[in-house]
Amino acid sequence: MLILKAKSSAQVMKAYNQQRVLNVIYYEGPISRIDIAAKTGLTQQTITNITGRLLEENIIIEGKSTGSGAGRKPIPLEINHSQLYAIGIEITVQSIRGILVDFNHNILAEQSIDAANYNNADDTLHYLQSIIDALLTNASSLQLIKGIGISIQGVVDPLAGIVINSHALHLKDYPLKEKLEQHYSFPVHIDNDINTIAIVENSGGALDSSQNNLTLSIDEGIGGAIVINKELYTGYHHRAGEFGHIKTFFGKDALPCHCGSAGCLTTMASIGGLENVFSISIDNMIKEIMKGNQRYENALLKIGNAIGDGLCNLIIFFDPEKVLLTGRLFDMAGDFIIPIIKEKMKTSVPHFSRDVILEYLSKRQEQASMAAELAIQEMFKL
Ligand SMILES: [Zn+2]
Repeated sequence: MLILKAKSSAQVMKAYNQQRVLNVIYYEGPISRIDIAAKTGLTQQTITNITGRLLEENIIIEGKSTGSGAGRKPIPLEINHSQLYAIGIEITVQSIRGILVDFNHNILAEQSIDAANYNNADDTLHYLQSIIDALLTNASSLQLIKGIGISIQGVVDPLAGIVINSHALHLKDYPLKEKLEQHYSFPVHIDNDINTIAIVENSGGALDSSQNNLTLSIDEGIGGAIVINKELYTGYHHRAGEFGHIKTFFGKDALPCHCGSAGCLTTMASIGGLENVFSISIDNMIKEIMKGNQRYENALLKIGNAIGDGLCNLIIFFDPEKVLLTGRLFDMAGDFIIPIIKEKMKTSVPHFSRDVILEYLSKRQEQASMAAELAIQEMFKL
C-alpha cells in the first residue's frame, strides 16, 4: 500500500513537472533547454527526459540553433502549433457551431446546426456529438486533438463541468463535461460565453496586461465577467458578473424584470429590453436618431446614462484597472453611448479611480474560436 502511494505521488510529480515545462515552452518559446531549466528550477537531466518525451509525442519541435561562438549551440524548442488541434464549440439559443482549429488558430473544418432541432437535453447532447464527430473526420489523427472547449449561453460551473441552467438549451444541472468525456478521449472544458471572452482576452488579448478587470457584454441580454488578480471570480452560485440585474432604473422607469425584481439594467439597456420597451429594432432606432428623431435620441441617452451609472458603481466597488466593453449594442451605438459613459465616470467615480481604462472591443474572435482557445489554454495551464 505504501509503495503504491509512493509511486502515485512520484507520478503526480512527474506530470506536474511536465506541465511546468509545457507551460514555459508555450508562453515563452522558442526557448532552449538550458533556459527552461533556469525558469523552472528543474535539473538539466529532468528537462532532457521531459522534452525527449514531448518531442516523441510531436507536442513540441526543435527549431534552428541561433547561438554563435564556439561549442554546442542551444537548440530552441517550441510548441508544434500546426500539428496540434482543438475543437471549439459555441452553443447559443439559436444554434450550435463547431470548428476544428490547429494551435495557430487556423480553421480546418466547421459544422453548425440550427437550434430548432433540439427540444430536450438528449437532443442537445445528440446534436453536439454529431457536430464533434463530423469535425473529427477532418483530423488526420485523434491523438493530435488536445481538447474541446465549449462556450455556452447560460449558467455554468466550469470546474465541475456542469451546465447549471440554460433554459433555451433545455439543460439543467446537466453534467455536460462528463457526458462528453465518456465518448471522447480528450478533455472537455465548458464555460459561459462571457467568461470565455474574459479568459481569452486576459491571456494575450485586450486585457493581457491588466491584473484586475471587468468585462461587460451587451447583446440580446447583458453579461459580465470579473477578473481579480488574473483569476476569474465566479461567485457562490457561479453567477457573479450578472451586471444585467444591477438596479439602474427607478420610479416609472423601474420595469419588472424576469429575475423577479424591477429596475434592472437589462430591462431597458439590453438589445432585447430596448427593442421591447421602445418597440423598434436597434438598427432602426439608430437610423431614426441619424434623421434627428429626438425621442429615440433621448431613449439612447437614458440607456447610456443607466449603463454609466451601473458601471460607475462597479468601478467604485472593484477598483479595476480596465473595463472591456463588448457586444452588439456597442457595435451599433457605441459612438453615442461610450462618450456618455465616459462623461458619467468623470463625475460619479471618486477621483482616485478615474484613471480606469475603458476599452471597446470591436474586433472579437468568433465565439467558437474563443472556445477552442479555452481548450488550448487548459492544456498549458499550471
Ligand atoms: Zn433582473
